[in-house]
Order: sequence, then structure tokens, then C-alpha cells
Amino acid sequence: MKITSVDLIKCKELKASMQVPVLCRINTDEGIYGYGEAGVSIDHYSLGCFELMKRLCAGIIGMDPLENDVIYHKLANGFWAQGGGGVIYGAISAIDTALWDIKGKAFGVPVYKLLGGKYRDKLRAYASQLQSGWKYEDFAHAPENDPEFFRDACRRAHEEGYSAIKVDFVRKCFGRENREYLTVPSLKKIESFIQIAREEIGDESDLILENHNRTSVNTAIQVAKLAEPYNIMFTEEPCIALNAENYRRLADNINIPIATGERTYLREGFLPLITNRSVSVIQPDLGNCGGITECKKICDLAETYGVMVQTHTCNSPISVAASLQFEAALPNFIIHEHHTNNTTPAVTELGLYDYQPVNGWFEIPELPGIGNELSEKALREAEIFTVK
Ligand code: MG
Repeated sequence: MKITSVDLIKCKELKASMQVPVLCRINTDEGIYGYGEAGVSIDHYSLGCFELMKRLCAGIIGMDPLENDVIYHKLANGFWAQGGGGVIYGAISAIDTALWDIKGKAFGVPVYKLLGGKYRDKLRAYASQLQSGWKYEDFAHAPENDPEFFRDACRRAHEEGYSAIKVDFVRKCFGRENREYLTVPSLKKIESFIQIAREEIGDESDLILENHNRTSVNTAIQVAKLAEPYNIMFTEEPCIALNAENYRRLADNINIPIATGERTYLREGFLPLITNRSVSVIQPDLGNCGGITECKKICDLAETYGVMVQTHTCNSPISVAASLQFEAALPNFIIHEHHTNNTTPAVTELGLYDYQPVNGWFEIPELPGIGNELSEKALREAEIFTVK
């Protein structure tokens, strides 16, 4: 089998979430094609991937798409790729995911079988980013600092059967700016929202803290100490993860498991966070960490240290399907993230299939490959550039 062309697809902007999904569709001489997405669509970083893939894809025309590891190494050893980075690895990850989609279709099996088989028939999911509401279409303009809007979001997710939710309480209270120091009134405000979440989901559900790197080491410690009595499952991105020593300091000072990884790339990025024993959960994004090829190696590395995995996904239904395949095949899977964004029609209609959990549990797609592709509507509205 040979790669004959690659369609680079820039979807219509999702205005509510400020995202431009960018995908590639790799075509072959046997009529099989595969989809992959660059997982950096927020704030339009994906536009860099769209341009970069024009060059990268020209270099893989004529190669055998079933040799994904060989192609990955060719791309990963490109001049600037050796320095890493989200845009570069977003482009490489999209290509890599599309190759796995092709491979699954070529052998007539879902990707989880190629990865060694599924460890579970269903994936437990949490309702994610409830500071922005739940199934709220105007995601970017959700009322901040509104207790009743937030209470309603928690109540509805719980009533739908989710046994875990995730909330960015810092953003909920103070909007999008970073917090350099949290005063006592600020901390009390955060705690009042944590109390609302616990009131609505009860004592037997899991509550996850999301900080989006908006806290520093010091303020993350302030928030974690405040939250400790509320039985927190883990705290996500408590500070920027580029310096693993900061994470070690956090781990030494708080009693909540730490998670990070949606802005960490390659095994080399995760290695210091894993080996210094600061993180309990890693959250690589298949769309930017190096794709399925690299992510499997990252997660196997984590397993040897007893570190659990929840892949990050906040992109199109193509990324969601790829994550479901991948997480099914992980021995060290902990929970699946279901972003509120992925419940709204503007996003779900991008996919040919709309996979949604029932009672907080996802079924694993059984179609060959990753199990989804762009809808006709998404393609009709997209800008497409073909590399031959
Ligand atoms: Mg996050």
C-alpha cells in the first residue's frame, strides 16, 4: 500500500470555543483513507499545523502507510521537530493518527486491537469543565462567578449518571486571568464553589480540580490545601509543567494526586515528571504528544512507575474516537474526559458518528480504524488543501 495524497482540512471556526479544528485525511492507492487531527485547535494554534503539514506530508507521499513507526521517526527527526513543541507535534500527531486509522481499516479491525486489545468494554467518563456549564452552547461566554448557573451544571451532570466531574474553580471565581496570590476572601470564594459542587454530586462521586496552569506553585498549594477536605480525585495542571522541579515541590506540599500532560510532548517531556514521582496521572493528548505511536510508548513508560493515564481531548469527534480506541487498550487507564464542548451540536455535527456516554460510560467504537470521520457538512464548510 502507498500514500498517494493527503487532504489537509481546516474546519469552519467554532466561535463559541474559539477553535479551528485542523485535520488530515491520508489517501492510499488501495482506496483506504485515514483521519487524524492536530490537537491544538484552541486559540487557532492549529493554523500553524495546517501550513506545516503541507511540507511534512509532501515527504511521506509514496511511503507505505502501514509502516507508521518508520514514518513517525522520519517526521520526528526533522530539523525543528527535534526541539519539540505543540504546533510541530500537533502536525505530526495528526499524520500519525491517520496512519493508525488506515492500518485498522486495512486489517478490518478497530485500533484497540492493533494496540493489543481492550482491557474493558466500557470507559468510565467524567463531565469536564463545568465552570463553563454543562451542555451549554455558548461555551466561551458562560456566566462566570454565578453560583446558580454552576449549581445547575453540577446537578444536571450528576443526574445524567456521571460519577465524576471536573471544574476549574479558579476560573469560575476570577475569569481567565492568572492568579499570582490568593487572598483569604479569594480562597473563601473558591471554597464556596467547591461546596456547591460537593452538595450537588454527593460524597460518593469524584471531584477533579482543573487549574489550567492559572495558578503558580505557591497558589496551587493554597488551592490544594483548601480543597483537601473535599476528597479530590486529582488536581490537574496546577502549574506549568515545563519545570519538573516545580511539580516535585507541589507533590511535597499537598495531599492530592497531581495530573498534567495536555501541554507536554514526547516521552522526553513526560520522563522527568514521572521519574521524580510528582505526578500520579498523566494526560497526554493524542493530537499533540506525538500521536498514537508515541503516546503508547509514553503510557507504557508511565505504567512501569505506577502512573495512571487519562488522555486529554477537547477537539473534534475524530479525536474523541481516537481517544476511546486508545484508552480501551491501556492497562493503566483511569478515566475518560468528556468535555462539555463535545456535547454541543456545533462540535458533534463535525463527525459522521456522534459517540456520547450513557450513564457516564462510553462504549468502545467497533468500526475498523479509529471509528469516525468528518461529516459531509463539516467537509462542505471546510477549506481543503491537497498535497500530492
Ligand atoms: Mg485540562
